[in-house]
Amino acid sequence: MEKQLLSLSFDELAELLRSLGEPSYRAAQIFPQLHRGLSPSQMTNISAATAAAVESAVPWEFPEVRERLVSSVDGTVKYLLGLSDGNCIETVLMRYRHGNTVCVSSQVGCRMGCAFCASTIGGRLRDLCPGEILAQVIVAGRDCGGRVDNIVMMGIGEPLDNYDNVLKFLRLVNDPRGVNIGYRHISLSTCGHADGILRLAGEKLPITLSLSLHAHSDEVRSRIMPVNRKWNIDSVLRACRTYSEATGRRISFEYTLIDGRNCSAADAAALADLLNRYMRAGGRSYPIHVNLIPVNEVRESGLRPPDRRAVEVFRAELEKRGVRATVRRTLGPDIAASCGQLRRRAAEGRD
Ligand code: SAH
Repeated sequence: MEKQLLSLSFDELAELLRSLGEPSYRAAQIFPQLHRGLSPSQMTNISAATAAAVESAVPWEFPEVRERLVSSVDGTVKYLLGLSDGNCIETVLMRYRHGNTVCVSSQVGCRMGCAFCASTIGGRLRDLCPGEILAQVIVAGRDCGGRVDNIVMMGIGEPLDNYDNVLKFLRLVNDPRGVNIGYRHISLSTCGHADGILRLAGEKLPITLSLSLHAHSDEVRSRIMPVNRKWNIDSVLRACRTYSEATGRRISFEYTLIDGRNCSAADAAALADLLNRYMRAGGRSYPIHVNLIPVNEVRESGLRPPDRRAVEVFRAELEKRGVRATVRRTLGPDIAASCGQLRRRAAEGRD
């Protein structure tokens, strides 16, 4: 049995209620309210006795908002959430013209060790359970009148390193009796866990896969992303092809631009050649898109973004070779909105 109520599927909740001697329609009364962030004891349509019985069988846990920062530049909201064991995670609500997007964390910390990323600095403390991932969507949803349009799994952690919990979360958040987000409105970002990508392909859920590529050669990629020593570029791009075949979805490639490391015009040409070789192979063409992200400076890493002109040259080189690319707008620059920075700051007791 799951360790908290928000992790239960509808059928598991129905089973729990049956075991407590409750009528079968109770699940339909309780499940939607849990997914609005209400504990059984806060629900007005069940008795106090039923609420108490449910909560003593499987506890109600919900994160506490420790900090809520709103960007004065673009309205991005960043939450530092305290979990029941005292650990902290981050969630971000981004307000785009085309809707509200919630960026969720999948682990407390991360063990992937990417050189540019703040989330990995203290390692991975533990995985999040499905309910802890779902609760992030509920917390952010309260700030936008419940109108969450998209979810990106791009917060702290490597989602495919916490596969079972992430998959259960995806099914929970898609449940029409709860938050009801369509799979096509969900993106999952991975550092290149090829086994996980292949497993996910087998689920045939039409979610968008984002691959954090960040380099066009194994030499450079292994230096900035240790995971590449386990699954190299070849194995990851093959897995992406399988994913695209299984789901029909376009793959998006994330490419962080780091001054002096991976963002010369020659790098752009080599990246385009690589993607054309793998994704336009053997008479087949797989839909792809490249997101360019000037690296966000993290104090500990010492890595810097290139200047704006170099970014534009890089993008133009890709486009010239038939690879569509956009430069990711940085949201919430005034609230440390990216990649584990707030959690680190809280851990160190800095302002
Ligand atoms: N573990 C997953 C998802 C979390 S990171 C993954 O690696 O994809 C989400 C994205 O932010 C990834 O593309 C990651 O490489 C990128 N990222 C991490 N730190 C960054 C930084 N300092 N600047 C820019 N992008 C960063």
